[in-house]
Amino acid sequence: MTALRSPRQLRNRAAAFPGRRGTPGCSRRGGLGRPPRGDWRTPIGRVLSLARPVWTVGLVVLAFSGCACERPREPWMSKEVPLVRVKIGDDAPAVSVAVAGPWRLVGADGDIATGKTLDWTRVQAAGGGIAFGAVATADGPVELHPAGDAAIYVSTPGRKRCGYRGFLRLLPTKKAEVRLVNVLPMEAYLAGVLARELLGSWHLEAFKAQAVAARTYALGRRDSRTRYDFDLYDTPMSQVYGGLDAETAKTWQAVRDTWGIVATYELAGRPVLLPAYYHSTCGGDTVPAGTVFGGATPPPLAGGTRCTYCRQSPRYRWKNEVVLSKADITEAMHGSSTTALRTLGPVVRVEVAERTGENGRAARIRVVDAQGQSVLVRASDWRILVGASKVPSTWFWIEDRGDAIALLHGCGFGHGVGLCQYGAQFLATHGQTAEQILRYYYPGVVLERAY
Ligand SMILES: [Zn+2]
Repeated sequence: MTALRSPRQLRNRAAAFPGRRGTPGCSRRGGLGRPPRGDWRTPIGRVLSLARPVWTVGLVVLAFSGCACERPREPWMSKEVPLVRVKIGDDAPAVSVAVAGPWRLVGADGDIATGKTLDWTRVQAAGGGIAFGAVATADGPVELHPAGDAAIYVSTPGRKRCGYRGFLRLLPTKKAEVRLVNVLPMEAYLAGVLARELLGSWHLEAFKAQAVAARTYALGRRDSRTRYDFDLYDTPMSQVYGGLDAETAKTWQAVRDTWGIVATYELAGRPVLLPAYYHSTCGGDTVPAGTVFGGATPPPLAGGTRCTYCRQSPRYRWKNEVVLSKADITEAMHGSSTTALRTLGPVVRVEVAERTGENGRAARIRVVDAQGQSVLVRASDWRILVGASKVPSTWFWIEDRGDAIALLHGCGFGHGVGLCQYGAQFLATHGQTAEQILRYYYPGVVLERAY
């Protein structure tokens, strides 16, 4: 077992982290401030520069018509950098935390404990509250706030130790486990996302396009999950987030160069946030959002964008066929929330019932059991049920092999909606800007500042 590092070691490590100095720091209030004005002289910044005279004209017109009101603000706009709540890892019976600087443990009634540094401290759920080392708290969550820019370090079962900006909310669950939620400003969150979603060596313009997509996605999740105790997972369930360890000079530059910019489209005369889906490798063209996720498809996610730019991806064409036993498929179907799938008998046949286009991705899969019961399931749901890590995409052909099926001639990696990351990298290395990349994969999209 590796010895836990002391706060001094942690402090040295934080100080040595490249990019920590001079990068916008976190504050408990969440304000990251504004980037230098020069940072706006970017391709995306120019979009906004072009838009400014239009706003000015609009304000002049309003002034002449007797109304001095400000530009209407949409629900997703804010004056400050918004906070996001990211669930760290799985809920666990116990976790350990440390702080490389002054800290406060805060409950509903104020400070519970304070200190100059926090050595590794075990945290457990206890009696509806949290046992924080020797300190037992009353019912409900508590928050661990470092002072200033000090980092919080977290050790959870099965994961390497990670450092985080912002503060940490410790919540007791109904199963008497601890849930960790890292609360931090959006832009700092993004700096910990980009290098987990793209390869570190990729082009800055690809990073900037990814930053806009990730920011837009995260802001949409924040707005739709106000009833829950967190907005985002730190896994591919949402976006992969690695905290301080995942930040690099390039991620911060991409964040600064696109500060606050989101992708929107017009719905009923108002700009709304685009559900800015993205994926690793489309494999040839993108797919309509409704086919994968159900519901209405926003025009920028209508799919059909030709993309052979992701040829560099190792998953552009699957090199190895995927073989799944019918027994495993039966078990996987029983994990569904759909009754018809849960009650299926032993699966004897699996076939593609519908494709998007003539030779496109599977849109619907038909699963048939030994009693002849047949269930149609959305291909993307089927993929998740059998395991997205086993089945790279829904673009494949099925061969029956008796007790198993083989997925052959597979194309792409991921759901295929919206921005293709490998395609974005290719376009960036061939002179396209982040703005051009975003407009290619989200046709008709409008880039605006949310804050
Ligand atoms: Zn592609």
